[in-house]
Amino acid sequence: TRTHKITLIPGDGIGPEVTAATINILEAAGKQTGCSFDWHNYDAGADAYAKTGEYIPKALYKSIEQNRVALKGPVTTPIGGGFSSINVTLRKKFDLYANFRPVKSLPGLKSNYPDIDLVIFRENTEDLYAGLEVMINPDIAQSMKIITRKGSTRIAKSAFDYAKKHGRKKIHAIHKANIMKLSDGLFIKCCKEVSEEFPDVTYAEHIVDNTCMQLVLNPYQYDIILTENLYGDILSDLCSAFVGGLGLVPGANLGAECAIFEAVHGSAPDIAGQDKANPTALLQSAVLMLHHIDEAATADKIQAALEKVYAAGKTLTRDVGGKSGTRAFSEAVIAAL
Ligand code: NAD
Ligand code: MN
Repeated sequence: TRTHKITLIPGDGIGPEVTAATINILEAAGKQTGCSFDWHNYDAGADAYAKTGEYIPKALYKSIEQNRVALKGPVTTPIGGGFSSINVTLRKKFDLYANFRPVKSLPGLKSNYPDIDLVIFRENTEDLYAGLEVMINPDIAQSMKIITRKGSTRIAKSAFDYAKKHGRKKIHAIHKANIMKLSDGLFIKCCKEVSEEFPDVTYAEHIVDNTCMQLVLNPYQYDIILTENLYGDILSDLCSAFVGGLGLVPGANLGAECAIFEAVHGSAPDIAGQDKANPTALLQSAVLMLHHIDEAATADKIQAALEKVYAAGKTLTRDVGGKSGTRAFSEAVIAAL
């Protein structure tokens, strides 16, 4: 059997529940396709601090460096103070510049927006997430927005390469360059330059506030959304609603050296520890991970089982109108493998 060493960060809130469900499904599928997983398990955030005195233990950094691939649950970030986001810190540390988020309808789920199939490429290392903030005086706060030619060009290149490889036809760069003439102006300038190397892909630019309206009116006009860090964060949650919400949409943080796979959603403290969370988003993130490590057969098997469970519609979690818990749902997926 093929054994894959993978760094595992269960996270907190609903993290441990959706991670346990996902791992059980991967192991059950792996038994059928001849692969196994050697999970290297680490805490991060407040839990890690309580145990080790570090928010991101050195051993976790080392593990990701060695394994080059991680599966991550959500980690709670304190609001208005406290420690810097673990997610942002890991993305910057490993230069995971491309946040890839496919938004695709699952069969059987009722939605006002059937058959959605769009992809978001979110720049993942700069913008206002650079964390450069100062109090100029007690009454004036300043956060710096950093946009670079390098950062903008490489995320644009990721999106166009993906379009070419997967036969996608259209890329919209989303921006606010009418107001942020320099930073967003540089971003779209770089996107446009990259677009010229890809004559087979249609390139367009939309302003972000209009994009929100356009998405709600007619999301089908978008194929690939290419955007900066903050707009990408917000548009991802918006787009998740087309396909049933945050419980569904997966993501990958991709860099040249390594990759961290995680859902779009956060730690959902409102439902944590109650066997209510939908593990689909993390499971589909794990499916992306399986493709990344050349386990396409295992990935396809899991995706097919997941779609079978949704199509049957009998064992769904509450967020998508069902009555089942996290565990019962994951058992149904395992039974469908
Ligand atoms: P959230 O994504 O955690 O939750 C938003 C809403 O969606 C809640 O009602 C929640 O119950 C629901 N939801 C989310 N995931 C779900 C799932 N799998 N199944 C069913 N329902 C689900 O967003 P929030 O409440 O704004 O943030 C909570 C915490 O998560 C914050 O500390 C935030 O910083 C953190 N966060 C972490 C990450 C990450 O680790 N990558 C991402 C986003 C937010
Ligand atoms: Mn987010």
